Amino acid sequence: MPASMKSIFLIFFLSLFCFECSGADVASPSNRENNNSVSSDIFFIVIDSLRADHLGVYGYHRDTSPFIDEIAKQSLIFDKAYSASTYTCESVSAILMGRYPSSTSWSTGWRAQIDPTVITLPESLKNQGYTTLLFTDHPALEEQMFGKGFDYVKVLTKQFGISGNGVKLVEEILKHINTLEKEKPIFMYVHIYDPHEPYEPPPSYYLRFDDKIYPKPLRLYDEIRFHLPELVQQGFGPGEVRFEDLVLRYDAEIALTDDSLKTLYNSLKKLRANKNAIWLFTADHGEEFLDHGFLEHAWRLYLETIHVPLIIHAPYISSQSQRIEEEVSLIDMFPTLLSLLGVSWTDPQWDGIALPLTDWWKGEKKELPQERVIFSELYLPSRTIGRSLIKKGWQYLNWQQWLTWQECSEYAQKQKQLREEYISGKRQPRSFCAEPEFEELLIPNEKGFPQKFADKTQCTEMWNYFRDEWKKWCSSRPVMKTDKEKLELNPPPQEEPKREMSSEEKEKITSGGYF
Ligand SMILES: [Zn+2]
Repeated sequence: MPASMKSIFLIFFLSLFCFECSGADVASPSNRENNNSVSSDIFFIVIDSLRADHLGVYGYHRDTSPFIDEIAKQSLIFDKAYSASTYTCESVSAILMGRYPSSTSWSTGWRAQIDPTVITLPESLKNQGYTTLLFTDHPALEEQMFGKGFDYVKVLTKQFGISGNGVKLVEEILKHINTLEKEKPIFMYVHIYDPHEPYEPPPSYYLRFDDKIYPKPLRLYDEIRFHLPELVQQGFGPGEVRFEDLVLRYDAEIALTDDSLKTLYNSLKKLRANKNAIWLFTADHGEEFLDHGFLEHAWRLYLETIHVPLIIHAPYISSQSQRIEEEVSLIDMFPTLLSLLGVSWTDPQWDGIALPLTDWWKGEKKELPQERVIFSELYLPSRTIGRSLIKKGWQYLNWQQWLTWQECSEYAQKQKQLREEYISGKRQPRSFCAEPEFEELLIPNEKGFPQKFADKTQCTEMWNYFRDEWKKWCSSRPVMKTDKEKLELNPPPQEEPKREMSSEEKEKITSGGYF
């Protein structure tokens, strides 16, 4: 075993030891307060790249989500839920650890992953007697990076840029569920990739929203993002036929995912009929359609990329539908689920808090701590480095590295080269807490979402408040591991030689900038 791996195992066992020997008066994750609740199945569904405002339940004009909308009629619907990052690996690490990406040394950057010393959500539930499962068709969620605490991990494909695998993923889940014992509760994290670019829905889903399929769609990577400034000059944008086709294809992929989830829900209801179930539907981040100058995600931190759906459905607890106005973060889900199950163990390092779901289900007005600020972070040195702070509808953005449209487009074309230069040390990344390149402040609209940019002469108190919060935050950050260090400490497993890809597949993947 290489020395680096030994140190990981050592850290892991030491952390287990400390965890177990923490004393009788400190509740361990195996302590239960309510055995009935602890026996409920938990299905944690994360839909990649799904912005909240493209679902019917969040007011979208197209019928993209008939199933989710129906479920929401018996659920808590969070109107202001935010993801901790706009990059998948950072966001998922944060969800599974209950901490923001920059709160551990491991969870920022291209190889953001679970910190090996942290007790994860699946791990804490495993200690309660749960069978813990991770199913995904997102190739970035590699088992050695995200599998901590899962009994079984299935990553359906290792190839990026493939649409429509959600249907297969559901089949795979149902096959596996049939092999499990029925009495033991299940925690299942499902990360479904379909709305992620490239947007290539089956024609029947496209035709739900238009009479005919647009014959000359632009390919997102090489035809749009590499040439965005010229395209925008030519009129590409809302109302323009090629832009509207792009959005429609994204919407059709949401509709496809909604159908896959309907199959999953109905099948699991039958297969696990002996169990109560808590269902959670959310997204790891949103998606940008020129709302603030660019496309996709993991380039910016504006509302459209961090405002995610969050619907918690547990009809055995309450079949009431309630809309929650409080600002919450997906890092709250770990403490919230444990609290809902009656588990008294807490992790003092959590950034997330246990939300009062049962009070909210009863319709009681229960406010969250006034001083709370919701953070979202993005640390991709070959793209953007920045933080968003949200409080009561205000958003402060502190950018250590921010790219113009032209730069986004140029960087997209040389992602592979840039990443290699950062990993090899040829280029030095800026610190996450360096002096900002610039800052922005957005004023809330009447619905309590950040909307209008303030200039430096306006709202001086808010500028100062957020700057202070940002400084406090920076002073409490641990030293980040670089991607190179993470690769050395936790290298990907040796793989079987892959089949030769077709030239079309190769072009799609490299133009996507994944390497
Ligand atoms: Zn994602």
